[in-house]
Amino acid sequence: MTEPVTGSEAARPLGHVSLVGAGPGDAELLTLKAARLLAEADVVVFDALVSSDVLALVSPRAELIDVGKRPGQSIAQDLINVLLVRLASEGRRVVRLKGGDPFVFGRGGEEAVALAAAGIACDIVPGITSAVAAPAVAGIPVTHRSLAAMFTVVTGHRQHGEKPVNWAALAQAGGTIVVLMGVAERGVIAAALMAGGMPGDTPVAAIRRATTDEQVVGRCRVDQLADLAVESPATLVIGAVAALNVCEVVASAAYAVG
Ligand code: SAH
Repeated sequence: MTEPVTGSEAARPLGHVSLVGAGPGDAELLTLKAARLLAEADVVVFDALVSSDVLALVSPRAELIDVGKRPGQSIAQDLINVLLVRLASEGRRVVRLKGGDPFVFGRGGEEAVALAAAGIACDIVPGITSAVAAPAVAGIPVTHRSLAAMFTVVTGHRQHGEKPVNWAALAQAGGTIVVLMGVAERGVIAAALMAGGMPGDTPVAAIRRATTDEQVVGRCRVDQLADLAVESPATLVIGAVAALNVCEVVASAAYAVG
């Protein structure tokens, strides 16, 4: 017979954290695994970009903790890491819910490392990233035969001390450039791309709150991007494909594939 467990450590087995991608907003774009984990969670720690439709799928008995990083009231990443470790150490099933995909500018990697260092089991549930979904719902394929054979996903928001983005190299590469967190710096980004040789008439699309009821799509040329009326959170798409709307019904086959 086994001894009865008396120590508080033993009585509280280590819990588990799932780092879950919430997709771009539309709850139907969640993975089946994400939906199941939300229904089974004891506690859900979520970011600012997670939509209310997705949060509606969380079990009503689960605790919801908002750690959204919004201007002026940001919660330090270190504190989020400590929180996740503490919640899991209490033996709870923790879902760490992040907009889009947890490993695309979501700092999911840092959280996974912190959990591993604390001996907490963690699994990763990928999500649909806005980097691909936001262009898609505007009818923009990020690759398109004869127009773009590659796409680059880049941040427009440089953290202090980080290596600067080589916009000139991206301008020269010739593929589609998808900029996340780039709204505030859009004029600077456009100027850097043009300084690197990108023609001023290169098409740009800006998709705000893609896949939600508040979705807005704006289009312009890169030399007009500084003046484009667009608010965060939006995804910027720069390159020939940004002129497309492949779902638009047209009289002639305007986008016929050659
Ligand atoms: N991990 C997320 C990205 C986090 S960075 C993902 O994979 O989608 C946050 C940036 O993502 C925002 O500033 C914006 O550029 C973009 N973004 C997130 N949700 C979006 C949405 N619904 N529509 C358009 N852009 C979005």
